[in-house]
Amino acid sequence: MTAPWRLLVVSTPVGALGSGGGGGVELTLEGLVAGLIGRGHRLTVLAAEGSRLSRACASARLWTVAGVDQPSWQHQGRDAPVQIPAAGLLPALWRQVQAHQGEFDAVLNLAYDWLPFWLTPLLPTPLFHLVSMGSVATVMDEVIEAVASSDQRRLAFHTRAQAGDFRLPAPPLVVGNGFDLSAYSFQARPAAEPLLGWAGRIAPEKGLEDAAAVAARLGERLLVWGVREDPAYAAAVEASVPPGTIDWRGFLPTQALQAELGRCRLLLNTPKWNEAFGNVVVEAMACGVPVVAYARGGPGELIVPGVTGLLVPADDVEALTLAARGSAALERSACRRWVERHASREAFAERIETWIRDGLRPA
Ligand code: UDP
Repeated sequence: MTAPWRLLVVSTPVGALGSGGGGGVELTLEGLVAGLIGRGHRLTVLAAEGSRLSRACASARLWTVAGVDQPSWQHQGRDAPVQIPAAGLLPALWRQVQAHQGEFDAVLNLAYDWLPFWLTPLLPTPLFHLVSMGSVATVMDEVIEAVASSDQRRLAFHTRAQAGDFRLPAPPLVVGNGFDLSAYSFQARPAAEPLLGWAGRIAPEKGLEDAAAVAARLGERLLVWGVREDPAYAAAVEASVPPGTIDWRGFLPTQALQAELGRCRLLLNTPKWNEAFGNVVVEAMACGVPVVAYARGGPGELIVPGVTGLLVPADDVEALTLAARGSAALERSACRRWVERHASREAFAERIETWIRDGLRPA
């Protein structure tokens, strides 16, 4: 099939685009949609009511539907069953897909939910999934692995570490992620006051407490950006360090986030789970900020130790503190260069296009 394709991109049923509730999926969707528009395709985005698309995606058609948010999988037990709330957004989104799928060449799902994966063999239009998390629940592993067994070309992953969580019949397709580099200003020098940064949803799987402990030990201020998904957890982290250690900056749109982030001497990234990618790691590097992270999940693949950051054994706060103290040799320009080479929106869109083209060929 030749371009332009008519593509339907289905967003997460956790939060409207622009709210931050969808975590990294929101920015991934932006990069993917803008990148595919740039390659000449015709895009429709289906998302929660209240969603907004950035200017880069202005030529995409936006369809929204109302419904109750889906509980996110990362906050449920490994053996939890599939749950769908009454008047749920997830079935409302997929009812819309079912009604309109005949108008598209392919449907691209970005939601990590059981229903879309399960629907894969039933939808007449080819349905592709960009898997946004590693393994968090048995029932999700089962449904993702079932898609892989029937036609693995329908699946793509952000990193090898993430894909490694699943039993796949063939090596995974790893597409990374893509960022609009013009949205991030390179800041050659950090602020005069030594500042540490941390960004992400404020939730236990993100491990903010370890970054706060490092900031307290070094006596440096930790700027924290992100949606307060778990307020009790946020309060407990704040209470674990001397007052003033954490500077809560709130959830900021990309433009404001990158301006503040670029002032930091380092970003700390401390996932407690197998982080699928780690958008904030790349966003920091795009501003010229090196990253000290746990060698776990996506960040373990995104950081070139000694060049763009440092990796320490997961959950080792002592090692994290030492690395954060001795990071002066890292070059800010090397960080930006890495993002330009490996994580541009254009290169990402090309990888996505290749994935879909291969998947649309007869098996
Ligand atoms: N983010 C943001 N503003 C903030 C803090 C975070 O827009 O103030 C975004 C950030 O750009 C990133 C996302 O939140 O795209 C977090 O994604 P990440 O992949 O780091 O983790 P996830 O939430 O998907 O687990």
